[in-house]
Amino acid sequence: MTNDEILNLRPTWLEIDLKAIQENAKKVMSYAGAKRLIAVVKANAYGHGMAAVAQALLEIGVTDFAVATVGEGVALREKLSQENVTITLLGVQDVKQTPIMVKYRLAPAVGTTAWLEEAMSQITSGQQLNVQLAVDTGMGRMGAHSEAAVKSLYDVIKSSEQLVLSGVFTHFATADDNNETYYKKQVDSFYQWVQAANIPADYWHLANSGSAIWHHNEIDTNTIRVGSVLYGYNPGTPDLPMPFELSSVLSLKSKIGSVHRLETGESVSYGATYTAEMPQWVATLPIGYADGYLRRMSGMKVLVDGHIEHVIGRVTMDQIVITLNKMYPVGTVVTLIGQDGEQKITLEDVANYAKSIPHEILTTLGPRLPRHY
Ligand SMILES: *Cc1c(COP(=O)(O)O)cnc(C)c1O
Repeated sequence: MTNDEILNLRPTWLEIDLKAIQENAKKVMSYAGAKRLIAVVKANAYGHGMAAVAQALLEIGVTDFAVATVGEGVALREKLSQENVTITLLGVQDVKQTPIMVKYRLAPAVGTTAWLEEAMSQITSGQQLNVQLAVDTGMGRMGAHSEAAVKSLYDVIKSSEQLVLSGVFTHFATADDNNETYYKKQVDSFYQWVQAANIPADYWHLANSGSAIWHHNEIDTNTIRVGSVLYGYNPGTPDLPMPFELSSVLSLKSKIGSVHRLETGESVSYGATYTAEMPQWVATLPIGYADGYLRRMSGMKVLVDGHIEHVIGRVTMDQIVITLNKMYPVGTVVTLIGQDGEQKITLEDVANYAKSIPHEILTTLGPRLPRHY
């Protein structure tokens, strides 16, 4: 058996529905009126497994992908070497890695002419670097931040034989909440600056998930650049309902590893924070905060045999203890995220309980969890 096969046997696992990801890609494109999708698969495709997700999207015709780091880009390029597959790097990159970006055909987001000048000095003649012109209209992380700055970046790219423009983009800070004023200001700046610089509309991509869902009428959505919606969850604040239904993608499950009875007055886990008030059945599951089931999840509900039970005592690195209404056999499946009979625990439920957001919950799901597709 290979190491991967052994990892896959672990009685705690993620179930990932790749068809649901394909459906969500189609749904958001059609809802936003998009012709082209840049699929954001950074952070191991938000925890779902970059290679499998990218392959599934490729099968429905998606050929444009975005990741955050050079390392992620290289890993993806090794899976998808096709000529027509583009890979954008969304974050600021270390310019010293330019030769790697050239070799693996990765298109970094670029926000300053100084970065471009230094990159050009590292590109051997006859080779080219694709770049994404980043426009900072209010996110405040990176990018050209004025009409003049956009124009001078575009001028450097246009006049260089070593540089090829792949796109021009901005990123919204408030697309997923109700701050319309800030959003509109970002939209206005983008249009004003790229139009003043004469950058053709074919290059534009603005919409992240929140914009594609709640603002598609206010911006150009020919090309959208989305992550969250692909993975089937509402990217917005809890007061913003989804205007269409997404297919759910991910479940987190574990199997009961041991069952025992607590007598009145007996406690569970570090700190002995939970004490039985009457005799009760409890079960131990082989999952803990090292898997991304956060310490804050103590007290959260889980599903056993179609009904609700709860995590008791502290979440430990590798194990948790749950209540049981009666004895269940070792090996019984417990659902921590997902559906069991009539009951459902969504990723959003888990994120709310942990006072976090779905993105953070997903990207902390550890590499020790096998992904079953
Ligand atoms: C992560 C990221 C996205 C994807 O955002 P979602 O809200 O998950 O759709 C898009 N653009 C940039 C620049 C990003 O960093």
